[in-house]
Amino acid sequence: MRHQRFARVALALAGEATHDVTHQLCALVVSKNRVLSVGYNQPKTHPISRDTEMQQLHAEMSAVLRCAESVMEGAEVIVVRIKHSGKPGLAKPCGACQGILKRFGVRRVFYTTNSEDAENPEIEELKL
Ligand SMILES: [Zn+2]
Repeated sequence: MRHQRFARVALALAGEATHDVTHQLCALVVSKNRVLSVGYNQPKTHPISRDTEMQQLHAEMSAVLRCAESVMEGAEVIVVRIKHSGKPGLAKPCGACQGILKRFGVRRVFYTTNSEDAENPEIEELKL
């Protein structure tokens, strides 16, 4: 399944990201089988989240901000999380991220759930 392939890539990237070792999340914006942008959780705020309680720039938002808005319509987002154990963890987007992704034209999000195997991560789909 192609979303698993993207999730494996994102899990590898999340493991290398050093911005925030307690929340190793990585998000990819994917369209037509190509990765358009990559985002990580970052310990800073951004105007895009000014209406929310967020103290961090979430990985999904970071990925969206690095992507031209014109190519976002119909794109898919893949979000993954690595736990301290090195295993995939639940990466379901929060309500604020869901709202922003929807506003940018994203209709489908795929995210990892808690599972034992980073090579075969379990993926859930969320329709926005
Ligand atoms: Zn979020």
